[in-house]
Amino acid sequence: MQKPSSRLLQHFPQIIHTFTTRHGGVSKPPYSSNNLAFHVGDKPEDVINNQRSLARSLGYELKKLVHMRQIHSDKVLIVDTTLHGFEHPPECDALITNEPDIPLMVMTADCTPVLLFDPVENVIAVAHAGRAGAIKAIVPKTIRKMQQHFGCKREDIRVVLGPSIQNCCYEVGEKIAKEVTEEGFGFAVVERQGRYYLEVNAIIHRQLQDLGIRHENIEDLSICNACENDTFFSYRADNQKTGRIAGVLMLKQP
Ligand SMILES: [Zn+2]
Repeated sequence: MQKPSSRLLQHFPQIIHTFTTRHGGVSKPPYSSNNLAFHVGDKPEDVINNQRSLARSLGYELKKLVHMRQIHSDKVLIVDTTLHGFEHPPECDALITNEPDIPLMVMTADCTPVLLFDPVENVIAVAHAGRAGAIKAIVPKTIRKMQQHFGCKREDIRVVLGPSIQNCCYEVGEKIAKEVTEEGFGFAVVERQGRYYLEVNAIIHRQLQDLGIRHENIEDLSICNACENDTFFSYRADNQKTGRIAGVLMLKQP
């Protein structure tokens, strides 16, 4: 399958965005080849190489990139030029900025990478939303922070859900299915032949709807990275030892 791109975001000349695939890097198996994460056991020099190539292809300075030590939390951080987020990635699961030339990166291998953009206030955000993060409302909390700190209006905010594991492949045990239901998200549990499957993006969609984000401003790429394991890393399909793909968003200098 081809490298995915957001039709919603590609119309805005003031930003650059991308979702990477597992191809085009230098990492060796099981990280082959374009792994962008340092914490998964890959050789650091290979990861740096992959990160450098991505920075070059998108036209940003690598040292300005901010990525995260993602912990499946609801912690949202506002980023400014004082943060050296490449060397010392902050511990959180969402980043927001209105500063140009600071690329924000979310890394995933089954969880949903979410890119957010308000073209009126020129504010961008990225969020990491797996089952835990979605239940903790990481995406609504990111949007509320965009509203509180930058005056973003819900009708202006664009939201894109990147490649992530979908209910075709995300089987969970009865205990988790029950927990998710008890949290009020039973609609995201799919039962097939006595087995339970989870649709994390259904939780995110419901939250976006509750926040009043416009339907036409939401784009779900609807790509299952586990089905498309030839193109994307998948924690489950690759038996846990694998790399990470990235969603990247950056505001350009006006
Ligand atoms: Zn699938």
